[in-house]
Amino acid sequence: MAKLKTLQPRLKAIDTRRIKPVYGEARRISGSTRMNLKRRIYVRDSGHCCMCQRVVDLHSSELDHRIALQFGGSNNEDNLWTLCIECHRDKSLREVASGQPDSEALKHHVPAEDIGASVTIV
Ligand SMILES: [Zn+2]
Repeated sequence: MAKLKTLQPRLKAIDTRRIKPVYGEARRISGSTRMNLKRRIYVRDSGHCCMCQRVVDLHSSELDHRIALQFGGSNNEDNLWTLCIECHRDKSLREVASGQPDSEALKHHVPAEDIGASVTIV
């Protein structure tokens, strides 16, 4: 009978400035799905940063979209790679500064897939 309606107003205190309405394919991946994916991509990338090639630890590396979602990149594994924290930070800064996909990142390629046929080459 009681519907706990009193809890609802608390959910409205969200800063929406950073939230972009992204749907379908371009949806951000989160939670355990993201952790599993990160691990899988990390293994595919042989534990290396895809830009500077340094050896990185799983926990000190970051799963990144080579072409960011806001620039039309996809969540396909051929657009996902492992970056070290420094490369990821610099790449993000350049993307913000230029407002377009990072030209440095585009000089590097996502390692060839060898863990199954789940990738769609476009
Ligand atoms: Zn790096």
